[in-house]
Amino acid sequence: MRVVALSRDDVVKRMSEVLKAGGKMLAQTCPACGNPLFEIRGELRCVACDKPVVVVRDQAESGRALLPIVLTSLEGVVVGKIDELTGRLAESVDLSEIEETARTIDSLLSVLRKSEEIRLAIKQTG
Ligand SMILES: [Zn+2]
Repeated sequence: MRVVALSRDDVVKRMSEVLKAGGKMLAQTCPACGNPLFEIRGELRCVACDKPVVVVRDQAESGRALLPIVLTSLEGVVVGKIDELTGRLAESVDLSEIEETARTIDSLLSVLRKSEEIRLAIKQTG
């Protein structure tokens, strides 16, 4: 639930005021509302929430930034495995081996699907 209900226009107006006053817009975004943070006289502030923001460069944040990259490499590995297993499946004549390979492919595919879901979730939250 959001306490501050500034309209988009208000936020934009404040941002331009801050910029005019010598504030600097940063690439970082407010963890509460997702608007860009501003550096004003050495202090990080969110103009939308109108309060100082402490940016923690800890594992949580860098971990989050890293997540899409990790997902990409995970997907690469998983696709490679699926390819490998598909080849094995094609050659396999043993029923239990076929079943086991198919099950493994199935779980790899659900890893891919989850990875995609996480990607979408990241995009939506910003
Ligand atoms: Zn904010």
